Amino acid sequence: MTSVQDDTGILAGDDRMLIDGELQHTSSGATFDVIHPGSEEVVGLATDGTVSDMERAIGAARRAFDTTEWSRDVEFRYHCLGQLHEALTRNMERLRRIVVTEVGCPIGVTRSQIEEPIDEVRHWAEYGRGFDYLQDTGMHPTVMGPARRLLHFDPVGVVGALTPWNVPFYLNVAETMPALMAGNTVVLKPAQLTPWSGSELGRIVAEETDIPPGVFNVVLSNANEVGAALSSDPRVDMITFTGSTATGRAILAAAAPTVKKTMLELGGKSAHIVLDDADVSASLPMAAVMACVMSGQSCILPSRILLPRSRYDEGIAVLKATMESFPVGDPWVAGNMQGPQISETQRQKVLGLITDGVESGATLITGGGIPENLPTGYYTQPTLLGNVDPDSRVAQEEIFGPVLTVTAYDTDDEAIAIANNSIYGLSGEVSSADNDRALAVARRMRTGSVTVNGKSFFGITSPFGGTKQSGLGRRNGTQGFEEYLEIKTIGLPG
Ligand code: NAD
Repeated sequence: MTSVQDDTGILAGDDRMLIDGELQHTSSGATFDVIHPGSEEVVGLATDGTVSDMERAIGAARRAFDTTEWSRDVEFRYHCLGQLHEALTRNMERLRRIVVTEVGCPIGVTRSQIEEPIDEVRHWAEYGRGFDYLQDTGMHPTVMGPARRLLHFDPVGVVGALTPWNVPFYLNVAETMPALMAGNTVVLKPAQLTPWSGSELGRIVAEETDIPPGVFNVVLSNANEVGAALSSDPRVDMITFTGSTATGRAILAAAAPTVKKTMLELGGKSAHIVLDDADVSASLPMAAVMACVMSGQSCILPSRILLPRSRYDEGIAVLKATMESFPVGDPWVAGNMQGPQISETQRQKVLGLITDGVESGATLITGGGIPENLPTGYYTQPTLLGNVDPDSRVAQEEIFGPVLTVTAYDTDDEAIAIANNSIYGLSGEVSSADNDRALAVARRMRTGSVTVNGKSFFGITSPFGGTKQSGLGRRNGTQGFEEYLEIKTIGLPG
């Protein structure tokens, strides 16, 4: 392994959390290790915050919301997020190295993890400044005579944000910046495996912006109970969470006693329906690339490929060729496009599901193990499973690895039924020579978003989220900003 330890390689992030404007360690001095998944090395530490630290952070956010002008002063928020955008831009290369260090994301494919979220800070600053917080809906008939109605958009209050490890800096930004710009105060609890993508954001807010103490807090911890304390605390008005469906259920239950607004972006098991007129040599290479490029650790990955029986062999050949030539290796080496899984636990989960798939009748077409030339680091071979039973575990459970399953179908109706045979509904894809035919299929998929003929649904200007057990609510677009606001309807004389 050739991980570079100079100024282009591994970088330890800030080990402190941000509570009430102060960068600090937990009082006991406890820490937890941060591991580089590309080399299995312990590359630094993070302070191991406690429930009591979380309670202090929530108290600070509550006070900042209730007693400062933050929730009412749009121009000041615009000023602060503008400062933050500039500061993040100055720190861009540092943030990039932290993401590669913590996640093992290949350095050549970090744009969506670094540049795009930094741009989003500017987007939300502008969007929130231009938003109309008092909207006149005109005159409405009532039994007491006509009344004018205004909609007043208020921030929700204290927002607790819980994020996962797969795209940590992006999600720390995506969950907190619209919340802040809408006038809320925030407590962020980053994932255990990627604390520095959160602590660096806290450090930059504290050292390089005028964001007042208590408005933005970051609590690091290795304990799930600290995240749980955020989702149950009565002083928190809203939880925004991205992570697994299992944790999403626990958060919903914890939020129920205080009826918190809850926004959940959860797991996925999305299908790519290849219709019988599709050009598979054009559409399927990218399907294989997407499965490998983040080591399959993407919630929106269309990991179930549905091929018409008449095109099955052709489709399998294209996928196999792309996966077998995919550049897997050290994430610091430019040109490698697939790095490691985030941890040994995750890799074992991936390998276990592949084994389970083969035991339930799937054909292992390529991959299925650890690359021989990469014995150190949590690498997994790009893996293709054919003849997959749509009811088997490998077709039903989120794998979060560089694995595609392929299932043959006979009619479009059958393909749609297989695609919808899932507890999840996050994304999907349709390929066809005929856009109208593909659109008709896309409209019948029970899912939050669909790519048709390679055209992405994802971006800051359009709503994104899940149906079924993939989540509640939407990020991005107008809807993604309004999630962080409550509507107060005011009736008054015309
Ligand atoms: P996870 O659910 O294990 O953890 C996510 C976060 O929740 C972490 O910060 C963790 O510390 C915290 N947490 C754990 N238990 C908790 C509890 N009881 N109460 C409160 N917080 C708790 O998820 P992960 O393994 O970090 O991330 C992978 C998952 O995230 C996958 O399922 C993936 O599909 C999903 N994901 C979804 C989206 C989306 O937009 N829908 C995006 C990225 C990742």
